[in-house]
Amino acid sequence: MKLYKIKKSKIDNKGRGLYAAKDIKEGTKIINYSGKIITNKQVDESDKYDNNKPIYLFTLNKRYTLDGDFSWNTAGLINHSCDPNSQYDGKGLKIWITAIKDIKKGEEFTCDYGFGFDKDYKQFPCKCRAKNCCGYIVREESRWRIHKKFAMSKKKLVNNSR
Ligand SMILES: [Zn+2]
Repeated sequence: MKLYKIKKSKIDNKGRGLYAAKDIKEGTKIINYSGKIITNKQVDESDKYDNNKPIYLFTLNKRYTLDGDFSWNTAGLINHSCDPNSQYDGKGLKIWITAIKDIKKGEEFTCDYGFGFDKDYKQFPCKCRAKNCCGYIVREESRWRIHKKFAMSKKKLVNNSR
């Protein structure tokens, strides 16, 4: 029996998401993230892999990247959350989505997309509605930079109003 169901997403209101088809224990492998293995050189050289589509690219090692931008890659439907219940787990050239919490039947699977922080972060607003949501899809270690930016712009506003 499959551990997931495809349904309209609660997070991405234009898209779909994957939902738990039954109660799942922490550590369970939920689905294989499938795609095409390409070289890192191809990523650097091809226009197809510009900053609009980083969501689907996983650097596997020094040489290879997994491109999951295919309609048959069901795991590509999993949405980002700032408080995810699953994670991408790599082993060799394979990537799995693994539960990092106990997940109840009917919950939407979410992962941290792990985007780096760069000047383009505003292209990827986050609507995960987690308490700790920083408003953008940025990996956990980089989020403090966003918070800091917000804090700074708030300060500016206060100063301007004086
Ligand atoms: Zn969020």
